[in-house]
Amino acid sequence: MPLPALSPDTTDFLAEKHLMLIDGKWVPAASGKTIDIVNPATEEVIGTVPAGDAADIDKAVAAARKAFDTGPWPKMPPSERARLLWKLADLLEQNAQQITEVEILDNGMPLNHAGRMAVPLAANMCRYYAGWPTKILGDTIPVDPPMPGVEVLTYTRKEPVGVVGQITPWNYPLGMVAMKLGPALATGCTVVLKPAEQAPLTALIVAELVQEAGIPDGVVNVVTGYGETAGAALTAHPDVDKVAFTGSTDVGRIILRAAAGNLKKVSLELGGKSPFIIFPDADLERAIPGAAFSAFFLQGQNCMCGSRLFVHKQIFDKVVEGVAGFAKMMKIGPGLDPETNIGPLISSEQLSRVSGFLAAGPKEGATLVAGGKRVDRKGYFVEPTVFANTNREMKVVREEIFGPVTCAQMFDTDDLDAVAKLANDTAFGLVGSIWTKNLAIAHKLAARIKAGTMGINTHGMADINAPFGGYKQSGWGREFGKESLDLYLETKTVVQHM
Ligand code: ADP
Repeated sequence: MPLPALSPDTTDFLAEKHLMLIDGKWVPAASGKTIDIVNPATEEVIGTVPAGDAADIDKAVAAARKAFDTGPWPKMPPSERARLLWKLADLLEQNAQQITEVEILDNGMPLNHAGRMAVPLAANMCRYYAGWPTKILGDTIPVDPPMPGVEVLTYTRKEPVGVVGQITPWNYPLGMVAMKLGPALATGCTVVLKPAEQAPLTALIVAELVQEAGIPDGVVNVVTGYGETAGAALTAHPDVDKVAFTGSTDVGRIILRAAAGNLKKVSLELGGKSPFIIFPDADLERAIPGAAFSAFFLQGQNCMCGSRLFVHKQIFDKVVEGVAGFAKMMKIGPGLDPETNIGPLISSEQLSRVSGFLAAGPKEGATLVAGGKRVDRKGYFVEPTVFANTNREMKVVREEIFGPVTCAQMFDTDDLDAVAKLANDTAFGLVGSIWTKNLAIAHKLAARIKAGTMGINTHGMADINAPFGGYKQSGWGREFGKESLDLYLETKTVVQHM
């Protein structure tokens, strides 16, 4: 079947020469260099974006600084900032078809995922954050007077942290941009956003819509470029007050070092190696598809991937067989095909990385139950893969693969401390899930696992209303929910001797 035709808006967008938005103007990189954008389903170049570097970051930071220090944005009435964020949500929806198609061509994600989650979730995030500018409150604090007879008024003000550098990954491009811009704009910060070089196109559409919504020039600047150049310059820049990053744990460490110069505030959402724990009494009709979906969703290029599957001995074979059945049944193909469940990996680099893990599993003694290889066709496709008989020593169990791979391990104990020890035996701590009908066991175990989000009979059900972030090497700080605003606010205490 031929793939559905692209909308005229998408065709027009792809035909454009893409530029970056700095201080309200669309500009090429100062160096004139560009980066090829590759459709991972076809390996074809579908456009170029400017390869911004330190010189462009300097200009963008200067624009954001000016917009913060002397522009209208931080002082704008809260209801006006709210209105503009709401308008941005409306514009995302009005351009949903184009954005969805561009996201699929750029990133490879299947339509049945992108259609439901890209624009709807990004618009939802903008509306959620549109609710906040009018509700950012300080406290009035009773304090002990320094001496009898003195009256003191003490209160706190919540003030925007300033110029924020935001660096986003390629796995969920639009959603990542919305979840970064939302709290920054709600609190009155100004932004230099550097999207991932592998999938920057929807960030450029968002930049157009930011302008169309009427958000003042310089408040949102988008610089496309490589991590080692543009990203590094942004994180080290002395005029940037805060960096927000989502990406790999290794780059998170580099960013922390770069931010040390002027002690920028840093928030990090990093990798995961999430436990998915199934007890014998679990509803396997839900747990088995849940395990498959959690591992293979977004081709496993997803920090919440349920990549360590712990299954009780009594049901181990049945679960592994069931998950492998799903792996074999999933339709692999280009994201634009509405029937596709598994799209391509993002790039040839990611394909070789994941292929390295696929080869390492059996070499270290894991049993290959499903998948295990690259698909013989154009594009960076690999089969959804299930390894059984894995253990903590194996590379496939220790490291984040960021591919559609799950590693099943058997457990044979009712001791919750022992189960928690297995689950916690990782450097990461982003999410986890427990599948059982016994809710007492579920809640006791949820309390024992070191992860930022625990699912009970669900996995990775993140929602913009609820905090999301990692324990251990999965990150610093919480995005989403009320807590995300704290990442973008300073607290000032004002004391009056009355
Ligand atoms: P992945 O390994 O999944 O590609 P990365 O952590 O490398 O993820 O990339 C996430 C984001 O971090 C991208 O926007 C990338 O350009 C950026 N990045 C990569 N290296 C650096 C760096 N040294 N400094 C700042 N940003 C970087």
